[in-house]
Amino acid sequence: MSNQVYQTVIVGGGFTGLFTALHLAHRHYPRTVILIDQHERFCFKPLLYEYFSGEMDATQVVPRFTELLEGSGVIFVQDVVQYIDLHEREVKLASGNSYNYSNLVLGAGSVTGYFHVEGAKEHGLPFWTQDDAIAIDRHLHERLRQAAQTQDPQERRRLLTVAVIGGGPSGVEMAATLADLLPNWYSAMQGDFHEVRVALLNHGEEILKGDVNSLLKETAEEKLQKRAVPVEMLMGSEVTAIRPDSVEYKRNGKVETLPTATAIWTAGTATNPLIKDLAVPEEHRDRHGRLQVSETLQLLDFPEVFAGGDCAYVDGTSWPATAQVAYQEGAAIAYNLRAIALGNQLRPVKVSSRGTLLKLGLNDAAANIYDAFEVTGEPAHLIRQATYLELLPTPIHNFKVTSEWLNEEIFQHHLGDTGKKVVQTVELVGGAVVGVLVARKLLQMLGDRDKSLQRE
Ligand SMILES: Cc1cc2nc3c(=O)[nH]c(=O)nc-3n(C[C@H](O)[C@H](O)[C@H](O)COP(=O)(O)OP(=O)(O)OC[C@H]3O[C@@H](n4cnc5c(N)ncnc54)[C@H](O)[C@@H]3O)c2cc1C
Repeated sequence: MSNQVYQTVIVGGGFTGLFTALHLAHRHYPRTVILIDQHERFCFKPLLYEYFSGEMDATQVVPRFTELLEGSGVIFVQDVVQYIDLHEREVKLASGNSYNYSNLVLGAGSVTGYFHVEGAKEHGLPFWTQDDAIAIDRHLHERLRQAAQTQDPQERRRLLTVAVIGGGPSGVEMAATLADLLPNWYSAMQGDFHEVRVALLNHGEEILKGDVNSLLKETAEEKLQKRAVPVEMLMGSEVTAIRPDSVEYKRNGKVETLPTATAIWTAGTATNPLIKDLAVPEEHRDRHGRLQVSETLQLLDFPEVFAGGDCAYVDGTSWPATAQVAYQEGAAIAYNLRAIALGNQLRPVKVSSRGTLLKLGLNDAAANIYDAFEVTGEPAHLIRQATYLELLPTPIHNFKVTSEWLNEEIFQHHLGDTGKKVVQTVELVGGAVVGVLVARKLLQMLGDRDKSLQRE
């Protein structure tokens, strides 16, 4: 291609791609930016449970790209990227259109992985996108309605049993949410909510093992038992088949069957096929097929291409595949793209962990802040909501407050200082009080910010 095409194409409008685009716009990047995503809406995945449960609405959790990018100058194209020719610097779309680029950003994320478990793809319900949330909602309402009308106790039990497969954060959050939500829904249909069963099946003996949320394991286990119906923990269960009317699993060497009309699959992620198909040699990928990038987030063989989030990794780091990593990488990619355009020096990415937040039922959560202290219950729920509400991307005029302000002011300065004081205080007054203080501090700061926005 001709190097005269000075345009940057971003593939995938997730945490990496969208925030790269927003940061570029905010920093008055001098080149054309085209953001391509297969969906019409950005999906704020950490809040997909709130969308599913009705605690938050579509405008908050799955806002339209056109609205988020309004006034930013970024061109949004809704299409599926089918193939990327790295040598020709060309992105080919399902519509037949194609775009050349001078720089490319890969933020295509990952996809649900089924590990060849029989029937998992056909009968397991994934929870990954807005469409998945809508499909599960419809499916469950239908099963509950059928249950409310059936006189056959065995069939009713099957219809009212939900198997959540996978004891990682997604499975734990889903099981906790359902164990509060389904009894509500079923009661509203005049059913006996005690008949609802939510079973969490996990291959390993422990939930959250090896995950960034592992420090919250005991709290999560406790909370799962305190839902409207307690979650049945089927640990050490290797799911071997999913059928329309049951889940088959191996436990203690025995094959068992759980009769159920609903199997929600949260057990695996896989590399996006688009990323797998790229002309990047095996030695520059990890064993999952993710792309190795330099510290400046460039592909080793194609330095004009940047990648971040779930589809890439920096050698020697073990950053988890999370939104907070992807979001920070998006900011770093934008910085470096601008540096290239202006002839400045590129900067290595820095990723910091601010702790983790886990939803553990309606209005309940656990927060592990800076790995220093833990907050649970209503205060943690407030922190989670305040933090995520603040992270939600909003149209460009608000962008400074939703990204940089949050990043620099709340997390690093205020909460950083508060965090240090709080760690000392926690020994004296206990986590719950601290949670209220931090939540109040956050909410107060949000209020101050709103006031200053109104003044602008
Ligand atoms: C249910 C759920 C809950 C989660 N909760 C948390 C949490 O609480 N905290 C946390 O930190 N992380 C959480 N995560 C993980 C987090 O969402 C991901 O790590 C993060 O979204 C990765 O960002 P990304 O930019 O790499 O990809 P994504 O945000 O997944 O974005 C990828 C984008 O690329 C688009 N795309 C993919 N392929 C194509 C194609 N061929 N053509 C066009 N567009 C394409 C997709 O439509 C998508 O918009 C959760 C994930 C899930 C599924």
